Amino acid sequence: MINIAIDGPVGSGKSTVARECAKRLGIMYVDTGALYRTCALFCERSGVEIIPENEAAIAELLETGLKLDIKITDTVQHVYINGEDVSDDIRTGAAGMAASKVSALPAVRKYLLGTQLDLAKHNSVIMDGRDIGTVILPNADLKVFMSAKPEVRAKRRYDELIAKGENVTFDEVLADVNKRDYQDTHRETAPLKQADDAVLLDTSELDLEQTVDSVIKLIRGLGKL
Ligand code: C5P
Repeated sequence: MINIAIDGPVGSGKSTVARECAKRLGIMYVDTGALYRTCALFCERSGVEIIPENEAAIAELLETGLKLDIKITDTVQHVYINGEDVSDDIRTGAAGMAASKVSALPAVRKYLLGTQLDLAKHNSVIMDGRDIGTVILPNADLKVFMSAKPEVRAKRRYDELIAKGENVTFDEVLADVNKRDYQDTHRETAPLKQADDAVLLDTSELDLEQTVDSVIKLIRGLGKL
């Protein structure tokens, strides 16, 4: 059994890299951002505004109204709201921003804690998020903190959104990246931060292949796979 934690800000490339590494190593990839996105989407669909004042109402809504399922096939993770596959619906820029807001609520983080711990306990995983190395898997075999300059991350995110047909400008995406960085690093509960024992990987000058190779090398270096 092996647990790998990959954290980093929006657009650092962590999801793509974690998924590819999991595929090559034959272990499970868990995208925890998708869980926050799903909770955010559920709040929005239920007409509950994501603001701190609504934390108790949101907690109750999730506890009583949401059956959140995750199914992973061939390292592709699908998420379901009460049986409906919402894997595509959670991928918009708006859902990412809503996720950033909902994830600042301690009750929501608590709601998702058990799911994440269970997955890591019963499987060899590469889990990516914001607090995996600091809160969820403090004893992970390896922690990687991926980052890149905001402009580079915004360009990656912009290309992704354009490829999906979203109508956005680069400046809007850069503003969103900066705003989410601020929200994610300044919240009180489980802020985005590099764990003391994490390896820092700056991907500003690296392409996907080079980044994946670096992470695989670190994992192989553990001598467990
Ligand atoms: O990684 P992704 O962009 O899908 O994450 C969406 C949002 O969910 C992030 O901006 C962050 O606020 C939140 N998140 C979190 N903790 C995690 C994963 C994601 O707070 N472990």
